[in-house]
Amino acid sequence: MNQERPNEAIAKQVVERVMGIQLEHADTHGGVDYMSTDGTVALEVTAVTDGEKQSARHALSRSKAKGSPTTTLQGCWLVFVSDTQPGMKTFMQRVPPAIAELEFVGETYFDDQRAAAHVIEKGELSRIYRPLLDAGVERAVYQPHPDRPEDPDHVHRIWTSTGSGGSVSGSDESLDRLMEELNEKPDNPTKLLASGAEQRHLFVWLNDDTWYNIARPLSRESPSWADDGWGLPTTKPQLDPSITHLWVVHDRSRLGWLWDGEKWQELRDP
Ligand SMILES: [Zn+2]
Repeated sequence: MNQERPNEAIAKQVVERVMGIQLEHADTHGGVDYMSTDGTVALEVTAVTDGEKQSARHALSRSKAKGSPTTTLQGCWLVFVSDTQPGMKTFMQRVPPAIAELEFVGETYFDDQRAAAHVIEKGELSRIYRPLLDAGVERAVYQPHPDRPEDPDHVHRIWTSTGSGGSVSGSDESLDRLMEELNEKPDNPTKLLASGAEQRHLFVWLNDDTWYNIARPLSRESPSWADDGWGLPTTKPQLDPSITHLWVVHDRSRLGWLWDGEKWQELRDP
């Protein structure tokens, strides 16, 4: 007898509310998670997450909790680091002073490959670049955004994103990556097909341990001014034919997308 898990119960409520239907826990012996009473709708709940990323994130939050040396910035910085980078537990102690120095000498961009070449050539910025390279910073981008009338108390800061920030171009590409991950989980479509239901819904939870490339459009980990071009996907998902409906929801932001077989719709705090 399989117990209903909390993220399954929440997913069920979301689907019930949006679709206006009633579902019952059905996974008592390894089948699909939920079925409607009349047997026409089946729901399977899954999550896409990464263990290595989890350990890098937990180390980064320990580093944030320790606090960083006081640095005053003239603008915000978006800092990208690999989500599998080791040594993250001292990241916030090592990186902000180097970013402040970078800003002080008038630099607005850091790229690890260009910086590595500069260090080999013993360039004048090597002293600043080296700690950033050692900490695993892949990219850092200065965001001056001087006028912020909506937030007069804004203090410029460093926004760290774990994940190769530049490697997806938008929601469509994140969706493609998600489809690749789902293809590695063939048991979901198998269970849905075996249910015999006409509507076969797959509900996918993303969370802060999901690969950044996939979670980027829904995570709201970056400030809103960096969110342009990350709306609803514009392409049809390459779904296994056993899946008729696809739900993708981020468990912290509670933002999501629903594909109903024909079009995408946005889910806000569903
Ligand atoms: Zn700022």
